[in-house]
Amino acid sequence: MKFKVCTCWDDGVLEDERLVGIFRKHGAKATFNLNPGLMGETRGTPSWISPGDEGWSCRGYRTAKLSLKDIPEVYAGFELASHCWRHENADSMPASEWIRTALDARHFLEDVAQKPCTGFAWPCGVTTPETVAALREAGFTYGRTTKYAADFLAENPEPMALKSSCHFLDTRSFWSRYAAAKKNGGVFYFWGHAYETMQHERLWKLVEDAVAYISADPEAEWVTVAEAAKLLPAAQRGNRRRTGIVT
Ligand SMILES: [Zn+2]
Repeated sequence: MKFKVCTCWDDGVLEDERLVGIFRKHGAKATFNLNPGLMGETRGTPSWISPGDEGWSCRGYRTAKLSLKDIPEVYAGFELASHCWRHENADSMPASEWIRTALDARHFLEDVAQKPCTGFAWPCGVTTPETVAALREAGFTYGRTTKYAADFLAENPEPMALKSSCHFLDTRSFWSRYAAAKKNGGVFYFWGHAYETMQHERLWKLVEDAVAYISADPEAEWVTVAEAAKLLPAAQRGNRRRTGIVT
């Protein structure tokens, strides 16, 4: 049986457009975690910080968001998932308020995609016990954290606090965990932000070479993150409970 590979990318940034081109070219599946409340009517403009500039950047590079109008076309054929309405961290407000931000993004994306968008990625990787429980109660399939598992299927007892295999720039773990998942018939799951390529062709090549290699691997099968999460023993126990089948 083939082993599974999935990937997800956060924040709905301009660089996603180039990234989906790579995935389309190589027939890969991918999931994109969006915050519709931070995406405006028009696209933003990326920039590099100047001396004295304050505020967020990725090693000096400031990406910008795609517009709301871009979502249907840029992400056509890919899985969309909630990343909260405006990237609200789980510890920034009471869980009962916070879950609305997760659901507002999900419902917006479901309207655009015309299909269920039950995946989730935790803004800044922050979780609390109350919001993990709220995410489960709200019917999400999984919630991806920024933690990592050497063995995706064995080390994810809680799908709402899902660990991926590695970040796309973690070149040390990337291929060793890929090889381990292949050997075990498991799941290899990598993630990132497309802006972390920072317009460097060398980094775009790293991404495209990895995607091309995986697509050409006869033992690998691309799946969406939601499909991968459903393979977890915990998810399968949940399914049995829901369907009333006892094994
Ligand atoms: Zn984010």
